[in-house]
Amino acid sequence: MRWKSAFPPCLAALLASAAACAQPAPPPARYDPAQLLPSLRPWAREALPAAARLQRLDQLPLYSLTVSLARGERAFSVAEELWFTNNERAPMPEVVLRVYANAARRAQGEAPVRFVSGRCVTGPCTVRQESPSVIVVRPRAPLAPGASLRVVVDLQGRLDEIDGSRTNILAQGMESLSMLGAGESSGDYGLLAVGDGVVSMANFYAAVGRRVGGRWERNDGGHAGDLGSDDLANVRAVLDLPASYTVATTGVTLGRTVANDRQRVEVGGAAVRDFCVMAGATLRTSTRRVGEVEVRSHYLPNDQAAGERVLDVAAAALADFERRFGPYPYVDLDVVEAPLVGGAGGVEFPGLVTVASMFYKPPQMDGLAGGLMGLLGGGEATQAMGQMMPAMLEFVTAHEVAHQYWHGLVGSDSRLHPFVDESLAQWSAALYLEDRYGAERSRRDADLNIRMNYQMMRMLGRPDGPVDRPAAVFDDQLRYAGIVYGKGPYLYNALREAAGDEVFFRAVRRYVDTWRFRTAPTTGFVDALVAEHGAGAARYRGLARRWLQESHGDDDLGQANMASLLQGVMGGNASPEMQQAIEMLGPMLQGLMNQGGGGAPSGGGPQRIPPGSGPQRLPSGGNHGGADPDVQGVMQELLRQLDSQ
Ligand SMILES: [Zn+2]
Repeated sequence: MRWKSAFPPCLAALLASAAACAQPAPPPARYDPAQLLPSLRPWAREALPAAARLQRLDQLPLYSLTVSLARGERAFSVAEELWFTNNERAPMPEVVLRVYANAARRAQGEAPVRFVSGRCVTGPCTVRQESPSVIVVRPRAPLAPGASLRVVVDLQGRLDEIDGSRTNILAQGMESLSMLGAGESSGDYGLLAVGDGVVSMANFYAAVGRRVGGRWERNDGGHAGDLGSDDLANVRAVLDLPASYTVATTGVTLGRTVANDRQRVEVGGAAVRDFCVMAGATLRTSTRRVGEVEVRSHYLPNDQAAGERVLDVAAAALADFERRFGPYPYVDLDVVEAPLVGGAGGVEFPGLVTVASMFYKPPQMDGLAGGLMGLLGGGEATQAMGQMMPAMLEFVTAHEVAHQYWHGLVGSDSRLHPFVDESLAQWSAALYLEDRYGAERSRRDADLNIRMNYQMMRMLGRPDGPVDRPAAVFDDQLRYAGIVYGKGPYLYNALREAAGDEVFFRAVRRYVDTWRFRTAPTTGFVDALVAEHGAGAARYRGLARRWLQESHGDDDLGQANMASLLQGVMGGNASPEMQQAIEMLGPMLQGLMNQGGGGAPSGGGPQRIPPGSGPQRLPSGGNHGGADPDVQGVMQELLRQLDSQ
């Protein structure tokens, strides 16, 4: 059922004559955003129009979505109505919509979302699917500057089913390892899937495409980093789901009715850059208030301890970031345990973040991974992994919460300049640890969750390089993680040291105030620092050049070998046997990388899953569970060698 128009076409008839109804005026192309505003805190409602440079809030696109999840959970339908205004100065002959879930599966030739039909409500147009991820709306006359159109699109989709055995940290580590030899990237990381009874729906609707250099982007490009929209929009949705489901979404719940065994949930979200639905019959929820904001953690019943921990971390991180960066714009924040696979640690959406299930669950010591762990020292290795897990969970959660500022409140171009939000989110997670536990703990966890990405990359023979590059330009996932997540964050440490805390944190606030509800340029942060302290301009810009454009990673971050990395992981508790065993992994991994066979080799080991990295476009090979035969052979050889030690 579609959302009712705020302007019934026959309303005029009641005031005039019945004849007006016989020849109704064209449906209005504008909508009333007022009913969506409860999702914003009062300060944000007030600040939004001027900050976003909008005369009216209905200049933002509105996605009005009716989403129905079929019984049996594997299929869904979307009745979408999009209200779009041409905010540019030139007429637009066409409007390009993107179904990003289909872009993510390009490599396999699969399109999980099927375009059924489309039409314009506001006038004649054609709505045509140009490729699985591209839908082109072409009105009869170009859309004039300031003019709006309403288009209706019907979609049918299906959800992947993720086997429960995959959402375990060791299984995910092995999956990443098995991808080392594969070239082509694919998969959507469980973003449009059901796993462990949790339904995850992201990138499932037709979103207004990106404008790059005055043109619509149609190309899916590389698969490193986040797909999806970077621009602000308004969303209202009606979700039709089994009544037993706990539901978490971007935006707030405006109403809920239950009939028979189904529920109908009405959702509104203002000024959001994306929209996501997470739901499940067994999800449990814990809640805490942080000032005006309600923070919720949703988790599976068996993962309650971790779910409570996530709530504590998310609430503490939000409080810390509000103090450091300024107020958070939405009235609530949901953190959801999600069946993420393919190496993704977590994914950010406005007002909602997901954290991979693998961080909530104890390591499962079966299969190839269990065998390897057994050979690496059995109980000792498991214990080390068990000790690492809470710290990893904490770091990933803080990273995802930080995205509410970096890419949420302050927008950035996640395809062309992925460092802008990712490096800041990494740095912010370390800042949260510092503010909560002190500098030493922060440094230690940053070594493990940030620096190790860079050092692992170097150890596996990949060269250093500039941080500020488009996601598609990074030749493999290892370099993307190593440089964007591993090196980029340390720019902010260097700037902080150069400027001193007082100036530096004033600049952070200025950066947020300047760019909230907009898209920050790559120089935005350093510009804010220079505005705070002009005398330091040459020094700050020099540091930005050094860290973002040049290659001094080995000098700045130090080289590492397996033993020193292990030392970091184990906190100095590794036995000599285990050290020896892990040291062998380096050359073995190197061998695997070199077997790449034409395609860009890529991937990462268990410790290299980039924490909180957004949907990491790791390559295929692990999408069906086990390692591919080549990798299995190498792993068996590895196990044999380890066994003979
Ligand atoms: Zn991230």
